[in-house]
Amino acid sequence: MSPVRQTILVVEDEAPIADAIRYALKTEGFEPVWRTTGREALAVLAEQPVALVVLDVGLPDASGFDVCREIRRRGSVPVIFLTARSAEVDKIVGLELGADDYLAKPFSPRELTARVRAVLRRTNGNGAAKPAEAAAVWQHDAARCRISYRGNALELTRNEYRLLAVLLAAPGRVFSRDQLMQAAWDDPGAALDRTVDAHIKLLRAKLRETAPEADPIVTHRGLGYALREDS
Ligand code: CA
Repeated sequence: MSPVRQTILVVEDEAPIADAIRYALKTEGFEPVWRTTGREALAVLAEQPVALVVLDVGLPDASGFDVCREIRRRGSVPVIFLTARSAEVDKIVGLELGADDYLAKPFSPRELTARVRAVLRRTNGNGAAKPAEAAAVWQHDAARCRISYRGNALELTRNEYRLLAVLLAAPGRVFSRDQLMQAAWDDPGAALDRTVDAHIKLLRAKLRETAPEADPIVTHRGLGYALREDS
């Protein structure tokens, strides 16, 4: 497509993870630049054009959250977080950090490059509006805690939003009820398995209002829920 390879800034202090990411990005035609600290990452952003930042939450010199805030203060380059703990996922979803997506470790490099492509498609350079014909089935505006499905902005409660945001961040991945509870409830200990089921039911009803036949949330019996990958 584009003759110029897009630069992806990879901020990750664990070399084996960074190596896998860099290899996958290169294979997919991107130009990865690797840094291990927040300070070095911000220096790269000040020096050269970067199409997207892959940002680990746990860095040696700073929290990825602080680095993300600083990136946002400087401009609109898309950010995908890498997280190691569900508590971090909770924070990304709950805080208005302006992150475009996140991936929970462990993830496959292929999953990451798919996400990079999706975010770049969605943000289309400097956050410019994309043509209507290219509209994605799902649009997640994490900064505003809003999700659109097939062009319709969904009216979601806080827990419904957080549940859907978790599923949406990793289409195809099966989340247990416990994982969903940890990510979407402020007080997961007080919630019951059937609380998740009840909220999934409400979510499905809201999605059916937009697309009666699609049913994008899949139940995996005895395991949990996933979002259909081709939904
Ligand atoms: Ca780390």
